[in-house]
Amino acid sequence: MPKNFNTIKIYLTDEEKFEDALFEYNFDRDSQIEPIYIYPEGYHEMTDEEIEHDELISQKIYEAEMNDDKKEADRLRELLTPIGPMPIIDIQKTLELIPIEDRQYFIDELDKDSYEEKILLKCLNCDFEEEAPYDIIEECWDSGPYPISYCPHCDKPKFVPVDIYNKKKKK
Ligand SMILES: [Zn+2]
Repeated sequence: MPKNFNTIKIYLTDEEKFEDALFEYNFDRDSQIEPIYIYPEGYHEMTDEEIEHDELISQKIYEAEMNDDKKEADRLRELLTPIGPMPIIDIQKTLELIPIEDRQYFIDELDKDSYEEKILLKCLNCDFEEEAPYDIIEECWDSGPYPISYCPHCDKPKFVPVDIYNKKKKK
């Protein structure tokens, strides 16, 4: 279906493409290839307590946002455990763990311009907006010139691509 609205394409880094390829490769295999990571300076491994604490805070942030309490949501966000830089997969070293005859698959995947596609949706009823993965939205789009879903904020079937929102609100 031709789209009369824009989506956001985010191109994957080589590391992201490699991790996706490894996930596919490991899927359904008896012996899993464990990736090798580079741990940047300042990397902080979360403890179980911190994970539990952050889950609780995230839940409260979600509730505050649903209540339109932006100030409280911002205050709560400050309480989340600061995450340092994330570990990065070591492509070269991990590739060396893959049997030679299977390596071409990874090299081909790295050559591709793979991207993640997202869409910004906005509610015609309450103005709530949220980004969503486009493949999920597209799957639920049966007919009509653009996808419409239920707004997670006001529950009305008025959640549309932001371009459509802008066109309709201009009239
Ligand atoms: Zn709404």
